[in-house]
Amino acid sequence: MKADFFKKDFNLHNISHAYLFECKDSNESHKLTDNFIKKILCTSNKEKSIFCDECKSCKSFNGNSNPDFLEILPDDKDKIGIGSLRGDTDKNRGIINVLNETSLISNAKVIKINCAEKLNEEAQNYLLKILEEPPKNSHIIMLSSRPFKLKKTILSRLIRINIQHKELKNKFNGIKIDPLFSEILYKEYDLDSMSEKEFNFLSDLFINTIESLDNYNFSKETILDTWNDDYLNFRLNVLKLNVFQTILGEFNKANNKNSVITSLLGEERLFLFLEEIISFQALLANKVPINKKLQLDVIFDFIK
Ligand SMILES: [Zn+2]
Repeated sequence: MKADFFKKDFNLHNISHAYLFECKDSNESHKLTDNFIKKILCTSNKEKSIFCDECKSCKSFNGNSNPDFLEILPDDKDKIGIGSLRGDTDKNRGIINVLNETSLISNAKVIKINCAEKLNEEAQNYLLKILEEPPKNSHIIMLSSRPFKLKKTILSRLIRINIQHKELKNKFNGIKIDPLFSEILYKEYDLDSMSEKEFNFLSDLFINTIESLDNYNFSKETILDTWNDDYLNFRLNVLKLNVFQTILGEFNKANNKNSVITSLLGEERLFLFLEEIISFQALLANKVPINKKLQLDVIFDFIK
């Protein structure tokens, strides 16, 4: 889930439309991200695990002039408004223009948004519409050190990768935090302003969710009954992270064991499973009236 993500073998079919890289605004983060973007754009047919640095796309990317790539930065007031996304000023062509065009010299089109937490409300709404129906062959890569500042509707559309090293808290008021739990807290909550009561509540919820996943083999009904509450989104995050770590092989390194549920699926199925979870979360975030229990049933049917 961390920098290892970038070392994975590269398969364009498994690249999502939209990512959020959770990281500090540091040179290291940008280098990792830019290399990832370069790989997506590179037209070389050679081994795809790395960019070639020789094709037209790679060369122009290195020269900051790749027409299939657009980088959005905060403006003079340290905000990202809708104008920056639309390209109202002469500074850029606007993300819609780039995404809707056929790629000119690259394999795809990529938008990179730095310090995404600085997107204002209007800009986030504009972006959400694009994320809901992403143009073909296009990718949006957002970077943020404060992801909880983004709207839940946006977050639900993104594959989130934490590339921030040792920023995750391993303790709360002296209590040790499970690394998986810490990652979930980091994504959705501001730990610095969290009360002990809230922390304990979420901690119990986390354990309870992990247990229900472990017991999955014995009873899908348990999940259907217990998960269908106000914390469904939190529980789906636990599941999503589980799938992620299985895909990245993180469980082998850490002494964690992955839940039975995810170890049953091959990589391709895991990616599809992940997509199912993400679209379910998008429905929830958008408050689409759905039968949650039924939807859960459909998702878990995937495991068979
Ligand atoms: Zn190349």
